[in-house]
Amino acid sequence: MDPIVTEVVRDNASPTNLPSTDSGLPVATVRLKPKRARPFFGRHPWVLESAVLRVEGAPVGGDVVDVTTHDGHFIARGLWNVSSKLRIRLYAFDATTKLDATLWRSRLESAIALRRSLGLDDRREAARLINSEGDALSGLIVDRYADYLSVQVTALAMSLRLDEICNALETLVQPKGIVLRGAERGLSKLEGLHLSDRLMRGSAPAGPIFVMEHGLKFGVDLTEGQKTGFYLDQRDNRQAAARMARGRRVLDMFCYSGGFGVACAVQGGARSVLAVDSSEKATVLAKANADLNGAANVTVETADAFEKLAALESAGEKFGMVILDPPKFARSRTATLDALRAYHRINRLAVDLLEPGGVLISSSCSGAVSREDFIMMLSGVAQRSGRSIQILECRGAAPDHPVSVSCLEGEYLKCVIARIA
Ligand code: SAH
Repeated sequence: MDPIVTEVVRDNASPTNLPSTDSGLPVATVRLKPKRARPFFGRHPWVLESAVLRVEGAPVGGDVVDVTTHDGHFIARGLWNVSSKLRIRLYAFDATTKLDATLWRSRLESAIALRRSLGLDDRREAARLINSEGDALSGLIVDRYADYLSVQVTALAMSLRLDEICNALETLVQPKGIVLRGAERGLSKLEGLHLSDRLMRGSAPAGPIFVMEHGLKFGVDLTEGQKTGFYLDQRDNRQAAARMARGRRVLDMFCYSGGFGVACAVQGGARSVLAVDSSEKATVLAKANADLNGAANVTVETADAFEKLAALESAGEKFGMVILDPPKFARSRTATLDALRAYHRINRLAVDLLEPGGVLISSSCSGAVSREDFIMMLSGVAQRSGRSIQILECRGAAPDHPVSVSCLEGEYLKCVIARIA
């Protein structure tokens, strides 16, 4: 039998275009196909289009809907988006919770309290306050950079609630300003979400913001920088790298604004650091950050990683530590094999540059590449290079990036620290 699906597409995603109900109560019921309910009993928050049997009612983008089994037993409450394959995002697993402003505020409040308990509430520092599914707020990311907030929305339903969310953030955090970062192009297509950079509240910073990280100072450009301006997920991994850097010649490949290299030079006591990125904007930031921290032994270069690694190898250069922190190589599960090949190539090049006893700090932020696959890739590198690789630490994102055990898609960052014999 063909599923009967009632679809009404909202004239899209202007934040002023509020859902037809803001009572937080469902306007429709969505029945799932038989045998497709199990992940949601396990609290997975994403209901795909393919799991939907029938829609009873006529929800429009952002509306509250109840999700039931094929025979009508309540499972969860979520927000509807007909423009996305990810048809419903779930926010509550009981029928008494209303998806209204009070709920968003209490979720924000408990996420912020968690950061406080982690000691990440120093207003001179930066922290991720809201980490989407990890904080039961699928589709919402909020980073605090000193006194400013940077908000990223990856779900249409959240974009329609931006006003409520910013109101709550203003009360809870009292920032000087809240800046909205526009949706990435791929995402706008996936979610039917068209948002551009915008000032939501207060004032935008006039220039770069300076934040402290484990005692180092970094300039962050909130409106021009990558992601929300700084890679906060690597905060503690930079320290872990620095702890191994003493006396070593360090190569910080894919350095962006220099986080790893500066920590190794200033706190780790590295002999010297060569920091490389293909983006000139990034290397300008890295140089400025090295200067800001008085790191005179950091050299910064704009170059392609694959070419630079090969060139250093042909020149017979050797390093005591190589840091690899490439951008996401796998955008989807189908791209995983190609991504693993690319990881193999750069890691092999890095291992070839390491002197015996050298340290490799190798990261992957591709969620589609599992921790096991990543380590198997390193095992392939050991085999091909004839070098022994000993894992010393297997790290992930900093704790202000919590991962829900019900949504392991949120566990994307791997950072392996290994000794190369
Ligand atoms: N290690 C950084 C974050 C790196 S993000 C930190 O701690 O902040 C990945 C970086 O890789 C980006 O800055 C991007 O500009 C750079 N990049 C992307 N493709 C590259 C390539 N082919 N060669 C060198 N750098 C590249």
